[in-house]
Amino acid sequence: MSNNVPITVAHGDGIGPEIMAATLHILKEAGARLDIETIEIGEKVYLAGNSAGIAPEAWDSLRRTKVFLKAPITTPQGGGYKSLNVAVRKTLGLYANVRPCVSYHPFVETKHPVMDVVIVRENEEDLYAGIEYRQTDQVEECLKLISRPGCEKIVRYAFEYARRNNRKKVTCFIKDNIMKQTDGLFHRVFDEISTDYTDITADHWIVDIGAAKLADPPENFDVVVMPNLYGDILSDVAAQIAGSVGLAGSANIGENVAMFEAIHGSAPRRAGQNLANPSGLLLGAVLMLVHINQTDIAERVHNAWLRTLEDGVHTYDIFTDGVSKEKVGTKEFAEAVVKRLGQKPETLKAISYKAGDEAVEAKPLISNRAPAKKELVGVDVFLDWHTGSAEELGASLQAVKTEGVKLALISNRGVEVWPAGQPDTFCTDHWRCRYFANDSTITHAQITTLLQAVAGAGFDFIKTENLYNFDGKAGYSGATK
Ligand code: NAD
Repeated sequence: MSNNVPITVAHGDGIGPEIMAATLHILKEAGARLDIETIEIGEKVYLAGNSAGIAPEAWDSLRRTKVFLKAPITTPQGGGYKSLNVAVRKTLGLYANVRPCVSYHPFVETKHPVMDVVIVRENEEDLYAGIEYRQTDQVEECLKLISRPGCEKIVRYAFEYARRNNRKKVTCFIKDNIMKQTDGLFHRVFDEISTDYTDITADHWIVDIGAAKLADPPENFDVVVMPNLYGDILSDVAAQIAGSVGLAGSANIGENVAMFEAIHGSAPRRAGQNLANPSGLLLGAVLMLVHINQTDIAERVHNAWLRTLEDGVHTYDIFTDGVSKEKVGTKEFAEAVVKRLGQKPETLKAISYKAGDEAVEAKPLISNRAPAKKELVGVDVFLDWHTGSAEELGASLQAVKTEGVKLALISNRGVEVWPAGQPDTFCTDHWRCRYFANDSTITHAQITTLLQAVAGAGFDFIKTENLYNFDGKAGYSGATK
């Protein structure tokens, strides 16, 4: 029986086929033990009428092999096309996006000669649920969803990754001074889980100052874990300041399937000219080899690639006069790496992967906690209303007869405007009207009666949010005063 590991490969669009051919050539010459199934994804599939850019039989291959090496694809311009990456990540539950961002000073120009940061980005939640609404003439909404299991999975992954890869510190980036509930949960879970990893330093930064410090100087960071949107933005920033987005690969890890790719796109303007740098995809493939426990091959490829960089054999995107020695195309770069298989870098640090470095266990490590006691204590009724001032709205709503609840406050874009508003607050047509129980709790029936009364008085309610206490603690945000 063959020891080969089945993998699924997509050659992608634009520069994709060229960098994939270069990558597969290097893997083959390095002795990677792979059985390759090829699938079609991207532009052709989109244009053939499949709005997700991936055909049904391609999913079968991914579920069968569980390992996906993917070249970048082009998303056609115009409406109606869904992001293939988001579809693959969400459908296959690829919850962790891991991006090592390393500088290769003095061989690739960078302001940060000793950068070696791994960004671990949560990949399924946050604003990427894609749940958006236009609610009034003036206001649109996007829901930011953060779950406890989602936080536990990604934070534990980051600590496990750090431990397996001999990293010393995990930093969490959040904005919980503003988003106390959602980012607050991420931060709390980070603090809880960090206590299981006393061998690793844990710290946290508010994302704005954290991002500034990551940009300059990145040496203070090791592994950085963050929710989806911050991770999306900062992993590109980190890759770019390390040297070039063209040099970074990434892994998308799920409980059953994992996907490996370059972080850049299909660069259509560079396609078909033997110009593109295959390094990002090649480093994605190295992460894949580690994942499937072919650490011997991963090490051979990675070190030969470092040696190639060090020898000054560079594609146009990283070519610098005086530093680089030879400007090469995609194919020639691949040949240069193949020629150096078995060699190690002399100045840059050689890589050593141990057998057993393979995939950090992606099994669900979700804590077994008793659910909190949940009590319905009120409701926020959101109105589309544009005919007067906050005082007039407050007075009109107070005149509506309610049962079991009373109007406690009105806010506009989160700022309290009634009963204690400020004259300077700008108001849109989107109002949050908060009702609390007269006694300690209310019923769903009382909410229904309230909504009927509000609608009956001529108001357009556009949505409601129930106000719950969990174990006696408010599970909703207050208004800015
Ligand atoms: P891009 O990353 O494709 O290219 C931006 C620029 O970076 C290019 O013009 C080129 O100068 C340079 N570049 C990128 N990769 C390079 C490489 N390997 N070698 C040399 N130079 C390289 O970003 P874009 O132009 O914004 O997007 C082009 C297409 O790629 C779009 O259709 C976009 O949707 C898609 N995209 C796909 C993925 C993916 O499949 N994972 C990711 C990002 C963008």
